[in-house]
Amino acid sequence: MLDIDRSAPVMVTGATGYVAGWIVKALLDAGLTVHAPVRDPAKTEKTAHLTALAEAAPGEIRFFKADLLEPGSYGEAMQGCSVVFHTASPFIVNVKDPQRDLIDPAVKGTRNVLEEANRTESVRRVVLTSSCAAIYTDAIDCASAPGGMLTEDVWNTTASLDYQPYSYSKTLAEKEGWTIAAEQDRWDLVVINPSLVLGPAINDLPTSESFRIIKMLGDGTMKAGAPKLGLGVVDVRDLAQAHLAAAFTPKAEGRHITSGHGTNTFEIATLLQDKFGADYPLPKRPLPKWLFWLLAPTAGVERKFVSRNANIVWKADNSKGRTALGLTYRPLKETVEDMFAQMVERGAFTKS
Ligand code: NAP
Repeated sequence: MLDIDRSAPVMVTGATGYVAGWIVKALLDAGLTVHAPVRDPAKTEKTAHLTALAEAAPGEIRFFKADLLEPGSYGEAMQGCSVVFHTASPFIVNVKDPQRDLIDPAVKGTRNVLEEANRTESVRRVVLTSSCAAIYTDAIDCASAPGGMLTEDVWNTTASLDYQPYSYSKTLAEKEGWTIAAEQDRWDLVVINPSLVLGPAINDLPTSESFRIIKMLGDGTMKAGAPKLGLGVVDVRDLAQAHLAAAFTPKAEGRHITSGHGTNTFEIATLLQDKFGADYPLPKRPLPKWLFWLLAPTAGVERKFVSRNANIVWKADNSKGRTALGLTYRPLKETVEDMFAQMVERGAFTKS
């Protein structure tokens, strides 16, 4: 059991999002008061599920108005908070202007929130939701990492504004976080680096990129075959527990690879076959790498991405999180079945 100080409120940025929703639920269930700065508190369709969670839990939630790109806008929400969870950052792969749509909100947003922590006497810890994307860009980077797998010592050196800008945004944002943390000693920074997050949404209208991937497996897009893109997966509910452990484990420090399983896109489809294969057009065979490479431009995928990810094993060492934070991971089959079942219920797919 974590030793949680319930006397002070905690702040969660991006509370309307997929990942943060489960963090807020866990905090409310633990009896904490959650300050939730959101872009528009008047948009109740984005916050109603959080209000309902608070009503059913011992904790409380209060909404505030803030934007990552508006300096000083997190001040009111942070007042009196002991812990700040900074999750807000756009997770979108197809953007028009990567600087404006990804890098600026990620980097300026991290600076904005952490500089506010500098001005807020009550803050003792900041938990930053970074990503394994700040460690690597492509599955092939695993093999070139020391020991043939990703560790917390590895930094992403291959993403750029032109290639995988989301990964670049997470790398720059986490670096910015470490720079600001090093300039003071009142609060400490603990970083969570999740791999691809899957599992059911707690928000009603999830827009996270996580859902697009599962949608493509179930809606027939990959009926002829799914590529074997190497990746790591963590369940969104396990990830929420990781954030609480990062906040309330006094000795926690540094980065934490938070990933339950190394897998690939075809294996995820295979895990869904038992329960959903009869009703939905899930891919039954892997798409050969050469064919994917050939077809990639028509699917809007860069050939460089295919070369560096298809049929390549993804490997990361998650032992630090297990040991230092006591993290545990549920089976991958449970994660993807729960997610797919919810998407079926919400009408994401038509039966084959
Ligand atoms: P999400 O559902 O799209 O959540 C993103 C959140 O950021 C939303 O609450 C969004 O608010 C907020 N946000 C975006 N731009 C903002 C701005 N300018 N000002 C204030 N808030 C803003 O995505 P997610 O998957 O939960 O991702 C949450 C975090 O986890 C991100 O830091 C992401 O990089 C990280 N992560 C995600 C994954 C994954 O597989 N999902 C993996 C590794 C790391 P609105 O509701 O107003 O849009």
